Amino acid sequence: MSNCIFCKIIARELQSKIVYEDDICMAFDDVNPQAPVHVLIVPREHIPTLNDLTGNHKEMLGHLCMVVNKVAEIKKIKERGFRVAINCNPAGGQMVYHLHVHVMGGRQMTWPPG
Ligand code: AMP
Repeated sequence: MSNCIFCKIIARELQSKIVYEDDICMAFDDVNPQAPVHVLIVPREHIPTLNDLTGNHKEMLGHLCMVVNKVAEIKKIKERGFRVAINCNPAGGQMVYHLHVHVMGGRQMTWPPG
């Protein structure tokens, strides 16, 4: 998608601090971190929201969960703990319409989230 900010990051047209990448996804630091560690895991395929997933995406989604693990290890937040979130549509607080997984850690998270 030519006007998608995350597609531009994946295409390296926009700079980001890459944490991890493979042929399915890319993980990079959030530009406006809400915790000492705040990484976004983004599939290379442009999928706007969770609502747009189909049965064909099952393997990719499982892969993203494994990458959450990898990112937590790289950022050294695995043992202490961390939060994973996917926002969907306006009421879910989604701002960028390219599916992404937030991985946040390095501080105590509170519940309920805002
Ligand atoms: P969401 O509200 O779930 O759509 O989250 C979008 C996230 O993308 C926010 O946490 C933003 O800070 C982050 N973000 C927006 N632009 C960039 C960028 N160029 N590089 C890294 N993170 C970004």
